[in-house]
Amino acid sequence: MSDGQPYEYQRRELAEPDWTRFPGWRGVTAADWGSAQWQRAHCLKNLDQLRAALGDLVDDRFYADLAADQQASATMSMLLPPQMLNTMVPHSPMTTEALYADPVRRYMLPVASDRRTDWPSHPHATRDSLHEHDMWVAEGLTHRYPTKVLAELLSTCPQYCGHCTRMDLVGNSTPAVSKLRLALKPTDRYDAQIAYLRHHPQVRDVVVSGGDVANIPWRHLESYLLRLLAVETVRDIRLATKALMGLPQHWLQPDLLDGLARVAATARTRGVNLAIHTHINHANSLTPLVARAAQAALDAGVRDVRNQGVLMRGVNDSAAALLDLCFTLQGEANILPYYFYLCDMIPNAEHWRVPVAAAQRLQHDIMGWLPGYATPRIVCDVPFVGKRWVHMVTEYDREHGISYWTKNYRTTIEAGDPDVLTRRYAYYDPIDTLPASGRRWWTKQASAG
Ligand code: SF4
Repeated sequence: MSDGQPYEYQRRELAEPDWTRFPGWRGVTAADWGSAQWQRAHCLKNLDQLRAALGDLVDDRFYADLAADQQASATMSMLLPPQMLNTMVPHSPMTTEALYADPVRRYMLPVASDRRTDWPSHPHATRDSLHEHDMWVAEGLTHRYPTKVLAELLSTCPQYCGHCTRMDLVGNSTPAVSKLRLALKPTDRYDAQIAYLRHHPQVRDVVVSGGDVANIPWRHLESYLLRLLAVETVRDIRLATKALMGLPQHWLQPDLLDGLARVAATARTRGVNLAIHTHINHANSLTPLVARAAQAALDAGVRDVRNQGVLMRGVNDSAAALLDLCFTLQGEANILPYYFYLCDMIPNAEHWRVPVAAAQRLQHDIMGWLPGYATPRIVCDVPFVGKRWVHMVTEYDREHGISYWTKNYRTTIEAGDPDVLTRRYAYYDPIDTLPASGRRWWTKQASAG
């Protein structure tokens, strides 16, 4: 600590961790490492592949812990690009303990011993905790806010995050969760989404997501985006891709960048803001390749690259971790720190979730360090409400961990409900963080119900 400050800013220059430290990748050349095809072909999908990469650096205890989680609790299957594994324990010897403690491992390779045994899930946790599916107006198209929609084009990603909020739809089924399936052929889905937008001129902002748009063949994505740009009332388009970090090699492919430049030029001609939104939770995930991918998108004419991280215990739940990440995003990778979400109330996520009070404290503690425009808002995505800045809570029962929120618009499923704008909507803190009286209350509720 310098000058008595609670945080010490230090520039963190990016370095690609040395992947040849992993026994399985000793002979991998820089050309292979930089190839999207090589990365995709070598994604880790199971324990055997993980063992093959890590060799004897990690002992059996870890693999057994991982296998136990996959059998009993995981809501997402394993899918990890080499790029992401390489950001775990990046600059010190890889050991079992170091891997256990690693923040990126903690959400990308969850193990059974991470999960809480007292309250693994909150009693109010649900598969589609934001009710996005309930608000589909066409397959994959969620119309929740009056002027904005979320367009889920597909249900896969190049990487699967343990805490994925769309765990009911995204990825392969796991023993704990059988996934919802998109029913329409992709072209029919796209047609239905575009048709809805043509008939709803009040929608001006489209988040094009999934899954991850990096898993859509570029020619299909380009065609969808050009059709979107032909809808006169659309003014903002945001492409959601965690792969900008998880598989930056994808976004560095020359053909794809040519295509992105064509889309960006059309957007510019039409006066539409085209941006990329990515999902980075820890400074260790930022490497020179990630910074190059962000810069390449900006050079192609995308107006902005922004980050929406998720606040999680053991990953980034300290002011220092958030500030390190934000300074690295802003200063080294030209990515705007934009949001941190509270981890949503999905099943088996209690060990990750942070209570609202802690999030308020973190928001307080990160103010004043970064440029104001690059100071992220920490938000709670309240079911049936939407994103609320954590200080917007109307009432907060700290003993039982229940916060109450209001909203100022109707979702598409509430047109006939007269109380929408006066009702208070509840959000729940993880029970293990409550005082003893609050924990007892929840235990009594559970046994009564
Ligand atoms: S990249 Fe996004 S959609 Fe895909 S698994 Fe991760 S959080 Fe879910």
